[in-house]
Amino acid sequence: MSEYEVAIVGGGCVGCSVAYHLAGQTDLDICVVEKEHHLAEHQSGRNSGVVHPGFNYPPSSLKAKFATEGTRRMKEYCEENDIPLEELGVLVVATDQKERERLTEIQEQATENGVKTEILETREEIQEHEPHAAGEAALYCPEAASVDSQKYVYSLAGDAENRGVDFYTGYEVKKIKTVDDTHHLLTSNGTISASYLVNAAGLYADELAHQMGVGEEYQIVPFRGEYYELVPQKRDLVNTMIYPTPDSELPFLGVHFTRRTDDKVIIGPNAVLAFGREAYENTQFDISELASTFKYEGFWKLLASPKMIGVALNELNKSYRKEAFIEASQSLVPEVETEDFRKSYAGIRAQVVREDGTLIKDPLFEHGSQSTHVLNAVSPGLTSSLPFGDHLTEAILNQIE
Ligand SMILES: Cc1cc2nc3c(=O)[nH]c(=O)nc-3n(C[C@H](O)[C@H](O)[C@H](O)COP(=O)(O)OP(=O)(O)OC[C@H]3O[C@@H](n4cnc5c(N)ncnc54)[C@H](O)[C@@H]3O)c2cc1C
Repeated sequence: MSEYEVAIVGGGCVGCSVAYHLAGQTDLDICVVEKEHHLAEHQSGRNSGVVHPGFNYPPSSLKAKFATEGTRRMKEYCEENDIPLEELGVLVVATDQKERERLTEIQEQATENGVKTEILETREEIQEHEPHAAGEAALYCPEAASVDSQKYVYSLAGDAENRGVDFYTGYEVKKIKTVDDTHHLLTSNGTISASYLVNAAGLYADELAHQMGVGEEYQIVPFRGEYYELVPQKRDLVNTMIYPTPDSELPFLGVHFTRRTDDKVIIGPNAVLAFGREAYENTQFDISELASTFKYEGFWKLLASPKMIGVALNELNKSYRKEAFIEASQSLVPEVETEDFRKSYAGIRAQVVREDGTLIKDPLFEHGSQSTHVLNAVSPGLTSSLPFGDHLTEAILNQIE
C-alpha cells in the first residue's frame, strides 16, 4: 500500500495544476491518481483549446476573476515552457439589431473585467479581420488565444513530477474508505492512502464527493459537445476565431469556428445531453449513467423551463442532422458548404446542476473532512486552471493547518 500526505484524483488540467502549485509551495508527499493510461484524456484534451480572456462573464463572477487572471498566466506559462499558443483574437458577430445591442452590453462587461475590446460597426471592418465572416457588426477581442491543451497538461505534470509528485496512471479510484483520519483509495490497481484528498475527477467528481458525504445537493449532468473540422483546402475561410453573439442566460457559447495551434479549423461544439459521462458518440449509451440522470430531480427541473426545452431540441437537431449544424455554421461564415465539413472529435462537459434545477455557472469547490472537491470546473476551466491551482492550494493549506 502506498501512503501519501495528499492524493489528487484526476490527471486533467485542474488536478495537474493543483499538484504543480501544492508541490511548489510545500514539502508534502503528493500523488496524482488517474484512471486512464494518459493524462488529459477527457475534458482537458477534448475542448476547443481557447484561452478565453473573460469578456463575456458577469463582472462579479468567479468565472470573470479566474478567466482574466488565467489568460495572463497561461500566456506567460506557455511562453516560458514552449507550449504552442497563438494570440489570434476572437470576433463575436452580430447578425441582427438585438445581437448588436447585446454586443454593447458585452463590451461594458469586458471593460469592467479589464479586457480590451473594440466594436466593429460595418461589414467592411469585420472583413478586414475575417474576409469571409458574416455579420453587420462585431466585437473584436484581441486577447483571445488558441492553445494546445494536451501539451499544456503534460508540461504541468512534468513540472509537478520534477517537484516530487508521483503519478499513478491506469489507477481508477473505485471506492474511498476513511478510517482513523486516513483516506484509503481502493483503485483498480491496489490501495493508495492519504491524509488529505483532492477530488479533481471531472465528470465523476460528484460521485466521489457523494461517497464522502460532500455536495449531495449537486449532480453532474453530462453535456456532449461535437465538432466538425474544415477540410484542409477550405481552412483559409477562417483565420482566427469567429463566434456567435452569446445568450447571457445560457452557459454554452453556441457553435463557433476556432483555428487551433495545429492549424486545423474546428467548428463546434454543440451542447446535447450525453447518454453516458464518457459517451462521445451520439450512438453510445451507458444505461446506468443515463438512468441516474433521468432519476435526478434537478435534471427535470432544469428542463422545465420552456427556454431550456427549446434549446435542448435545437441542439439535438444539430447532433443528429448534419444540415442543422451546417446551417448554424453558415450564419457565421456563409461560404462554407456541406462537403467542406469532416466529422471531428467530441468532448463532454461536466456540468453541475443543483437539485432545485439551477445550472451552476461559476466554478464550485466544496470542502469535506480533510478533503477538497472540485465539483464544477466548466468552461473556461482550461483558461482558469493556473489560478484554480493557486486558489485550491491556499484552501487546502488552510484546512491542513
Ligand atoms: C467540449 C468542450 C469545450 C471546451 N472548451 C474550452 C475552451 O475552449 N477553453 C476553456 O478554457 N475551457 C474549455 N472547456 C472546459 C475545460 O476543458 C474544462 O473546464 C477542464 O478541462 C476541466 O478540467 P478537469 O481537470 O477538471 O477535468 P478533466 O480534464 O475531465 O479531468 C478529470 C480526470 O479525472 C479522471 N478521473 C475521473 N474519475 C476518476 C476515478 N474514479 N479515478 C481516477 N481518475 C478519475 C479522468 O479520467 C480525467 O482525466 C471545454 C470543455 C468541453 C467539454
